[in-house]
Amino acid sequence: MPDTLVSVDLSKPAREQGDAVHNRWHPEIPPVASVNPGEVVRVECKDWTDGWIKNDDSANDVRDLPLSLVHILSGPIAVNGAEPGDLLIVELLDIGAFRDYEWGYTGIFARMNGGSFLVDAFPDPRKAIWDFEGIYAKSRHLRGVRFPGIVHPGQIGTAPSEALLRQWNEREAALIQTQPDRVPPLAQPPNPENAVVGTLSGADADRVAKEAARTVPPRENCGNHDIKNLSRGARAYFVVFVPGANLSMGDIHFSQGDGEITFCGAVEMPGWIDLGVDLIKDGVNKYGLTNSVVVPSPVEPHFGPTRYLLFEGISVDRQGEQHYVDASVSYADACMKAINYLSHFGYTEEQAYIILSCAPCEGRISAIVDIPSACCTLAVPIDAFEFDITPNADGPVAADRGKLATAS
Ligand code: ZN
Repeated sequence: MPDTLVSVDLSKPAREQGDAVHNRWHPEIPPVASVNPGEVVRVECKDWTDGWIKNDDSANDVRDLPLSLVHILSGPIAVNGAEPGDLLIVELLDIGAFRDYEWGYTGIFARMNGGSFLVDAFPDPRKAIWDFEGIYAKSRHLRGVRFPGIVHPGQIGTAPSEALLRQWNEREAALIQTQPDRVPPLAQPPNPENAVVGTLSGADADRVAKEAARTVPPRENCGNHDIKNLSRGARAYFVVFVPGANLSMGDIHFSQGDGEITFCGAVEMPGWIDLGVDLIKDGVNKYGLTNSVVVPSPVEPHFGPTRYLLFEGISVDRQGEQHYVDASVSYADACMKAINYLSHFGYTEEQAYIILSCAPCEGRISAIVDIPSACCTLAVPIDAFEFDITPNADGPVAADRGKLATAS
């Protein structure tokens, strides 16, 4: 087991652990530790909400989570010798849950607090707690489902340069300006409320909290990628923008389906990551990269190619309006069809929504040239269910599938 480079105290809030965590992207957030190329270390991470979501049967915490708190990231970690223009290689050697924290959660976030991919169909908060049995997850809030996880950090990346940070803030502000009063918003501008900017203090901390980018979208530094296959054994190549690279990570997911559709759509947990780092000097120029690239994990749930039920989405929305090869509309259509199908087995539509968000489902753009519809498919693993979900002459068997946590 490698030495722990960054450790967190799960009983303490992030603002009391600025020497380990932060929740914004900014070049001036100081590194909390350093590592040499070739070294292997362990990094501990809180869950993305700073321990806000509890293992209980109420979704009040999902309803009330102050989103200005997220995402809690461990780091930054300085890589000795890294310079702007280098590529930082990070190999994720292993990822796991803490002893005594072998559970995770998933939330459907309400329209008024974040929203989710299918927010028009699912405007209210819901929660499911998952218990881990080795590599498997199951939930008292969703009976009849048990699947192997594909554990990964939902968020990992390097610090932006000052110029890149400015570019992010300008382009996202321009988008927000197109519909400034939209609920949920089009993007999250910098917000000093609940900002944790590491070990900075005084006027510097205040200024950085106002300038720093939120951790919500994926960007050139990778960031909130939510690629489920960036799991054990995956290798990522990050663009270095500042001296030392300043690598941060967190938002560990025990499992997730492609799309992470319910917003807090993975099986979220605190945990640890063992990783090795190395550098490719001047790698950005050598390969002409502007963004990270990833070699995915050799480890994934192996259901076999014929053990999925594929739902086909087309670019037609819920009102019946045709859109022009819009893959988002098509993926939403595929998800709604799968949700409707699973509801015939006794699940509520919200339960089905959470299953698609958490089980290792495969999402694909199957065709994007057949005007006017893109064909997006959502492949649901048949073996994630403890009963047969494929169509047969007897029809679906509806059973009592339990009940999600709701808000009061
Ligand atoms: Zn997450």
